[in-house]
Amino acid sequence: MDDDMRELYQEVILDHGKNPRNFRQPEDANCEARGNNPLCGDQLTVYLKVDEGRLIRDAAFEGRGCAISMASASMMTQIVCGKTVSQVQSLFDKFHKLCTGEMEEFPQDEFTDDMEKLRVMSGVRRFPMRVKCATLSWHTMNAAASGHNETTTE
Ligand code: ZN
Repeated sequence: MDDDMRELYQEVILDHGKNPRNFRQPEDANCEARGNNPLCGDQLTVYLKVDEGRLIRDAAFEGRGCAISMASASMMTQIVCGKTVSQVQSLFDKFHKLCTGEMEEFPQDEFTDDMEKLRVMSGVRRFPMRVKCATLSWHTMNAAASGHNETTTE
């Protein structure tokens, strides 16, 4: 990666870190889970509204933590909205491999555009402690979508 690209990538992370998207608690969320990364002090709660067809209608989060964890959570909420629970679980698997450096290139598929956006986080692979910051919101979203700490407004 050349310096211009690196600068652009850092800009995206800083922007999301400073102005996180979907930083709120939706009233009609029916899944939520809390995530904690004690190594860094990142703590967040992810809220999802999942319909009967297991489609994620809304995704949001609240919490505090380092810029990487906040930026990653912000991007995560934008990306998972409108996808099914099984789609975001596959995407999470790819994202995890991207962050750990286990995979560099990903096949062209339904997630190609999302992976291009998420590539901004791939710099964390050089800092093993940061991998947890980048993946915390995804782990938490996965827990919420899998029904752990599931709540209902009914
Ligand atoms: Zn962190």
